[in-house]
Amino acid sequence: MSNPKGIMRLELLHSGKANDVYTTSDPRYLEIEASDRVSAGNGEKKSTIAGKGLANSRISSDIFKYLESYGIPTHYAGNGSTPSSMLVKKADMIELEVICRNKALGSFTKRYPCATNYVLSQPLVEYTYKNDNKDFPQYSDPPIDRKTIVALGIASELEVQFMDFITTRVNELMTDYYATRLQVQLVDFKIEFGRIPSSHGNIVICDEVSPDTCRLIDFSTGESFDKDRFRNSMDDPSMGYRTLLKRLTGEVI
Ligand code: UDP
Repeated sequence: MSNPKGIMRLELLHSGKANDVYTTSDPRYLEIEASDRVSAGNGEKKSTIAGKGLANSRISSDIFKYLESYGIPTHYAGNGSTPSSMLVKKADMIELEVICRNKALGSFTKRYPCATNYVLSQPLVEYTYKNDNKDFPQYSDPPIDRKTIVALGIASELEVQFMDFITTRVNELMTDYYATRLQVQLVDFKIEFGRIPSSHGNIVICDEVSPDTCRLIDFSTGESFDKDRFRNSMDDPSMGYRTLLKRLTGEVI
């Protein structure tokens, strides 16, 4: 199997909660295959949603291309060798989840006494320390402040400033993308960053930017179009993915 650049997909390197990562015939690149697997609550609730992988991969790829067109560095390198995969630059992942919020929802409303859907006075960028080490379950993705990120050697002060800036800009760009192209409001999202070894350690956005990693509300009906449908056991968890794909490409799944 090879992608449009003629790079062959080789072995499965890592199987995550929703995505499978493959090595390729070019050591500078990997392929990410978006699966139909869905999980919530750090893997406690699991299932599959038919068509989710295709929808997420199409949306992620389109957003990465859109962000690149505005000068935002990402790991996106082209289509993968299947319809639900993309070719990406290999990166050393930074162990952080970077969250940007426009409105208060989810874990934020459990931490602070504020009303659900409260509109924040300005977009808020927060960090959590990504801990997938099963030996330390007590440290499950804790919020981490900028000084602690630097003190633990996770990223330098300049890198943190860069991630702050890029995340804020991505929020402006994705808010516009989702509103004008897909008629949904971007409530919040999570992104991850990595350093490209073959490019002097330059930082780029990695992983995915899809309805699995953000909250999206339909402008006309107020309905949730993201993973919250599954998280909160709402009717038809596939509805959001299907509707967004149809709005983006016209495809029906
Ligand atoms: N998010 C994510 N992966 C995580 C945690 C959060 O993609 O491991 C996304 C989530 O979908 C939402 C945003 O980040 O769009 C903020 O999530 P929150 O902190 O409210 O946590 P949640 O309530 O989703 O657990």
